[in-house]
Amino acid sequence: MNAHEIVAIDIIPIELPLIEPFIISYGAAAKVESTLVRVTDRAGNVGWGEGTPDETVTGEAPSTLLRDLSEIAAPALLGFDARRRDLATAELERLLPDSPTARCAIDIALHDLAGRAAGIPLWALLGGSKSTLEISRVVSMRDPERMAADALRHAGDGFATVKLKVGQKDDVALDIERVRQVRAAVGPEIGIKIDVNQGWVDAETATGAMRAMQEFAPDYIEQPVLQGDLEGLAIARTESGVRTMVDEACHGPADMLRVVALQAADLVNIKLMKTGGLSSALAVDAIARAAGIGSQVGTMVESSIASAAGLHFAASRGNVQTVEMGGPIMLAEDIGNARSWYDARTIAIPDAPGLGIEIDTDRVRRFALQWIEICA
Ligand SMILES: [Mg+2]
Repeated sequence: MNAHEIVAIDIIPIELPLIEPFIISYGAAAKVESTLVRVTDRAGNVGWGEGTPDETVTGEAPSTLLRDLSEIAAPALLGFDARRRDLATAELERLLPDSPTARCAIDIALHDLAGRAAGIPLWALLGGSKSTLEISRVVSMRDPERMAADALRHAGDGFATVKLKVGQKDDVALDIERVRQVRAAVGPEIGIKIDVNQGWVDAETATGAMRAMQEFAPDYIEQPVLQGDLEGLAIARTESGVRTMVDEACHGPADMLRVVALQAADLVNIKLMKTGGLSSALAVDAIARAAGIGSQVGTMVESSIASAAGLHFAASRGNVQTVEMGGPIMLAEDIGNARSWYDARTIAIPDAPGLGIEIDTDRVRRFALQWIEICA
């Protein structure tokens, strides 16, 4: 009898309310739709994971994620040795090559389980670089006056950097006005990041907009063109001379190699939901680091579980320069206590084993749409 054998996987789709709607170039959301998984081994160790789908980015919806987890991933992993994470990753990549968010949910759970079983925090399991992190605060895409007011409020709350969501190809002048008004409101000391979420579509539009925004001194401009157009991203970066971050166009290690080959970015936004979990995120960061490209750890707006996984990953890597795990401070309700790690813009990563999160199972039940148990 192998005590490390996976004997049960619970799959729990949930919905959590946001404090206010989150608005970006391709959509608006009033709630977070996510799916939790709980993996249990024969010895009784448990690990929690989470998959938060963004259909525009990975093609996965809550319904396909639930199907992939309950019908494919969970049945395939029953009986696996929970310590053989690389073997599990390979099997899930074979079974679910186009479902990184489903693979991510399992991958986070196996890492949490490994950390808890060993009695060490995930950041230490992965490496260990820093114990505190700083985050910027995101500003939804709205009219310029409202964005300036929101940015000023966040600066007043102690954030040193704001991240502006823009991206209207049919009205680039309005995007420029958004950034102009925010810079005028917050003054020269507050950092401004700009995320276009593919909204300027092509290299020509992007180059013009990026050149025009240079006078407002952005830290960087993120994913200005469509995700399928890596060549266009390289052109916009070279022609504008503005620091460029790749996000939607870089999912995993193979994409990162192309980014490096095309010199398409100065920075990469790594999200666990795109890479398929922590193992591939480490590979993306390693390639970036070798190429002199800095990493950011981003988020789909996730609950305590996936947010904690992203924070541990960020704390484990010296090449991670910026962190955007805003989920816990954007949610009106959460199923874990990651919010307590945040003090204004500073986040202290705890020393507790695994993800170091306390999961409130009563709350999980309250926000669960279903609870599916798959046992050996
Ligand atoms: Mg982005």
